[in-house]
Amino acid sequence: MSAAPRRPGFPFVRQSAAPRVHDAIAARARMIERLMAAGIRDALLLRALGAVDRRHFVDSALALRAYDDDALPIGLGQTISKPSVVARMLQLLVQGGVRTPDGQRLGRVLEIGTGCGYQAVVLGHIAEEAYSIERLRALHEKARENLRPLRIANVHLILGDGMVGYPQGAPYAGIVAAAGGEAVPAAWVEQLAVGGRIVAPIAHKSGVQVLVVIDKTLAGIEQRVLEAVRFVPLKSGVS
Ligand code: SAH
Repeated sequence: MSAAPRRPGFPFVRQSAAPRVHDAIAARARMIERLMAAGIRDALLLRALGAVDRRHFVDSALALRAYDDDALPIGLGQTISKPSVVARMLQLLVQGGVRTPDGQRLGRVLEIGTGCGYQAVVLGHIAEEAYSIERLRALHEKARENLRPLRIANVHLILGDGMVGYPQGAPYAGIVAAAGGEAVPAAWVEQLAVGGRIVAPIAHKSGVQVLVVIDKTLAGIEQRVLEAVRFVPLKSGVS
């Protein structure tokens, strides 16, 4: 096995050759073990989650907590979802979305709510093309900055109102929302390919937010309500 790449630490911290307690690779490996124990089994997804460094997407002051199973602030009152929720939603997407002809990955996918860009990059590993739309200009720009050094060609960031989807990339093999509204907008269902799946949080009549899965089949639309979740609100307009 090759050694972890050296990163510059604080000027007063000597980098030792021995693995560090907070080494990102070890922390990520522990995160993957926790996710597997919690039922995340899809090999494609586990590889993707293991390949993306969450620390790169959070404020440096929060870097040591990047692999904890917590939602973390990313500015403007928004949060990066905790790893277990990202994994749960993406596993649902992978299981139900349309695959490429070789069956290796999902086709084109759409994410509503780019935030810091973490989930968009994970999507870039599990899908042929990922489109991610964000309504807050400052976060869209932050995500652009986060992605630039990673040089990923198949992740496309868009500034816009995700309530109307992104018709230019449709039809989508899968759509995943990181913000929850009253209902799933009709535009998302329209822009979903037959055989595709939407995974999104929505408000439930009980007052809590729940995760829903919508499958579009030749026979019509099937919706399943899953567990309670807590996402930031889906809002309209760009600001
Ligand atoms: N997937 C993100 C999590 C972002 S939090 C990550 O990995 O960091 C949810 C994001 O959805 C917020 O940034 C919020 O601004 C955005 N959002 C809310 N309503 C939206 C809409 N209508 N269109 C696009 N983005 C929206």
